[in-house]
Amino acid sequence: MCRTLISVGWDGRLYDCDFNQMMDIPVAPPYPQTIDTFDYQTLAQRHIVTDQHCYGCTAGCGSSCGGTLT
Ligand code: SF4
Repeated sequence: MCRTLISVGWDGRLYDCDFNQMMDIPVAPPYPQTIDTFDYQTLAQRHIVTDQHCYGCTAGCGSSCGGTLT
């Protein structure tokens, strides 16, 4: 998800994905942090924040959430 989409919280904060949103890990500075500063070109080149939970996802190629089984 983090490679093609972005999550927006109820308060307008931006997250690399819904997993990061649930773990309260927002888009890292210096990239836009809220929907009112959204800039597609800048966000498309952002550094995606990763953590242990990414092993279960790996952006669509992991073990869950649209991942592959074979
Ligand atoms: S790899 Fe990590 S940051 Fe990317 S969508 Fe999966 S959980 Fe989110």
